[in-house]
Amino acid sequence: MEPFAYRTAASESERRAPGLLNMAPWSRFEGLTAGFSTRLGGGSLPPRDGLNTALHVGDDEKAVIANRRAIAEALGWPFEAWTCAEQVHGSRVVRVTDEERGMGGLSRESAIQDADALITDEPDILLAMYFADCVPLYFYDPEHGALGLAHAGWKGTAADVAKETIRAMRDAFGTAPSDLYASIGPAIGVCCFEVDDIVKNRVLVDVPEDARFHVPSSEGKYRLNLKEINKHLMIKAGILPSRIEMSGWCTSCSTDLFFSHRKERGQTGRMMSWLGKKK
Ligand SMILES: [Zn+2]
Repeated sequence: MEPFAYRTAASESERRAPGLLNMAPWSRFEGLTAGFSTRLGGGSLPPRDGLNTALHVGDDEKAVIANRRAIAEALGWPFEAWTCAEQVHGSRVVRVTDEERGMGGLSRESAIQDADALITDEPDILLAMYFADCVPLYFYDPEHGALGLAHAGWKGTAADVAKETIRAMRDAFGTAPSDLYASIGPAIGVCCFEVDDIVKNRVLVDVPEDARFHVPSSEGKYRLNLKEINKHLMIKAGILPSRIEMSGWCTSCSTDLFFSHRKERGQTGRMMSWLGKKK
């Protein structure tokens, strides 16, 4: 069953109410919230209509902040808890403490710089990251109440940001990989993610030749399954396969619901992944 389940808008009349996908299987963990936003609702104008959550895509700043505030409100979280990074398609992991709480909510300048994974063991921090085709990775360690959220495009996948996040959680909180739950969110699917052999060879360094991970398409081209590759990297790093959830949504196939960088040729907005735990 699709783990990212749609939370409908409060009412038909609230057409701007944010359309959010809740990571349903984790609602069994008390105080935990995890999910992914869609493009539905919100006040951004085309081509970033409507619920764009990112400030770096040329959208009206006021509209983006209003969209973010609406999402926080829909989740029942104070906007002051919203904490995010300037993502750079790398693999640097930053630990978020009470000192970093709220960074990046209102501006790019105030965001945690140069990071593609955020981890924390402090409650009441809402980790946020932004996506349009790249793969959102979620980690939860119930033993230490610790969270991790990562951004894995093909570069982040090649840099194994999943492994780096797991390693950072182990170093910071004593997280055992076998205690972790993980989830892989909506992202571009193997149906749509065609690359050349240069990209394929960079991504598949530590990944076996297997039809699960890539399939040949046209001459010299391949279609990569970034979600399956990240699942493989998570398992390799010690997470139990039975504890990994994976979304079936392809962002590029469903531009009615999602922004897609590839399908919309770069002229689009960003969804957000969120992960937080209340005290
Ligand atoms: Zn697709």
